[in-house]
Amino acid sequence: MTPVPLPSSVHVFVRDWLSANHVLLKSRDGHVLVDTGYGAHAALTLALVAGPRGLAGEPLEKIVNTHGHSDHVGGNAALAARYGCPIAVPAAEAPNFDAWDQKTLLYDYADQHVDRFGVDERIDAGTTHRWGDLEWQALAAPGHDMGALVFFNPDHRVLISGDALWRRGFGFVMPRAMDERAMPATRATLDLIASLDARVVIPGHGEPFDDVGDALAFAYGRLASLETDDVRIARYAVKAIFGFSLLHRRRMREKDVADFVARVPFFGDVNDAVLRMGVDALAAMIVDELLRAQAVRREGDWIVTAAGEAG
Ligand SMILES: [Zn+2]
Repeated sequence: MTPVPLPSSVHVFVRDWLSANHVLLKSRDGHVLVDTGYGAHAALTLALVAGPRGLAGEPLEKIVNTHGHSDHVGGNAALAARYGCPIAVPAAEAPNFDAWDQKTLLYDYADQHVDRFGVDERIDAGTTHRWGDLEWQALAAPGHDMGALVFFNPDHRVLISGDALWRRGFGFVMPRAMDERAMPATRATLDLIASLDARVVIPGHGEPFDDVGDALAFAYGRLASLETDDVRIARYAVKAIFGFSLLHRRRMREKDVADFVARVPFFGDVNDAVLRMGVDALAAMIVDELLRAQAVRREGDWIVTAAGEAG
């Protein structure tokens, strides 16, 4: 695949489904990094950001996050310690960090770990920022995460989308029974993105892409399949969260999956609110559907993560 052309000050480090991509916006006025990956892989993040395609010996001026999920902010603490730079987060997300609200942020509550960091700046939706010698509009993008922002440069029509739009879909959304705002917000955010007429999208996961119309069509199709069906939303959410756990745990004994979903509060809450399955049936459903999607595979007694999207 030919890389899509980007402005020369925009450098994308494409990671995987455990660590979100990093976008380094370079300028003589100071380099800004958008999103920092998952904490367990912070050493690799530091190496990539410091390396020849990254800062190459220069300081980091600021860390910016699209939203608060563990795979986007996990390197914040380590990078801020290394470079002594401030961390700027979406204003709507800041109270969650200040309170270190592990439930809203889906950290321990969803079997995800983040090294705690402090918030230095709040980015309000509707503001414009000069990063990498380009103007970036911060736009509210609630849905997958109710406090999320996306960043849009109108001159080059480049969108940094976080998990609001991927080449195929978007980050999982909470069932209506748990947050009735989430699914309508997801549609509104797709409508906003469609109105931007972006030429290139730099997603939180996967390569930057320029077939934005196709991506939006796919996302609207997925949305339509989800928004009338809370059970489908809930199944998607539990598969996504379990798949993410398996990405950082690498493997789990199949017989331990039921205990795991019984122990991690996210699964119990989604199950109580929507699915209402026995825990063994819930575990079996998650494993069966991830096997069918080839997101995981069986190795003897183990369930092992496979490459690619988990969920
Ligand atoms: Zn996310």
